[in-house]
Amino acid sequence: MSLAPAKLRWAARDRKPEGSIVDVAGVPVGSREVVMMAGPCTVEDEDQLLRTAMAVKVAGARMLRGGAFKPRTSPHSFRGLKEEGLRLLSQVAREVGIPVVTEAMDARQLDAVCQHADMVQIGSRNMQNFTLLEEVGRLRVPVLLKRGLCSTLEEMLFAAEYIAEGGNQQIVLCERGIRTFETSTRNTLDLNAVPLLKLMSHFPVIVDPSHGTGRRELVVPLSRAAVAAGADGLLVEVHVDPERAKCDGEQSLTIPGFGELMEQLRPVARAVDRAL
Ligand code: PEP
Ligand code: MN
Repeated sequence: MSLAPAKLRWAARDRKPEGSIVDVAGVPVGSREVVMMAGPCTVEDEDQLLRTAMAVKVAGARMLRGGAFKPRTSPHSFRGLKEEGLRLLSQVAREVGIPVVTEAMDARQLDAVCQHADMVQIGSRNMQNFTLLEEVGRLRVPVLLKRGLCSTLEEMLFAAEYIAEGGNQQIVLCERGIRTFETSTRNTLDLNAVPLLKLMSHFPVIVDPSHGTGRRELVVPLSRAAVAAGADGLLVEVHVDPERAKCDGEQSLTIPGFGELMEQLRPVARAVDRAL
């Protein structure tokens, strides 16, 4: 029995029972390997990005993350270095030899983002921006689709369906926590989503424990749980000096903290027959 909502034409598990592998510049997401994507919430300067990228790569990250266009609740918060941030991302990614994922908040940013990044992120706040989804569907670039703040899994799969309908099947789904009545964490990380999305859809599923909890000290335990639940990868925020981060310092791991996370994940990955 398929758990997919009836009208999924592209995303349904039945369409590809063996599961999809999304190739991001040579990094296969959805294979036996749990793919670690790590880096700062926001690109701040070259030194910060380069030091972080080198360190996370050495520790075992396969992809670099970093925001250039940042969706911020308040317009008075730092909203990213924009084009300059994209330039730094591609420069550092090239220097370090690691593919990069970054967010496009608007269709007008897609050209620039695709010129500098290996994977386009559609953020939570845009999961149901249907014109943006359609535009991304026209491209042939891997897409990281984050779950909306208040979206059901069915709504998330229909968002993926919009992208796939345009002919772009290179989609990775990301559980990043949802709004609930609980206020002691930034969001409630819904780990039900991992096995459920995998039952419903063939697209790979990764987990973002940084936004999912909002608290650095919860990132290791929830990452372990995500891998145990079958996640194909993790998206983790790491900062060289979290106290001074321009964005999301309280949920960012330090560089030694990321190394510790990798150590803590290895036995879990082994236990569920995954490589790390
Ligand atoms: C991010 O990953 O940088 C981000 C803004 O996440 P989200 O869209 O999940 O809030
Ligand atoms: Mn962030």
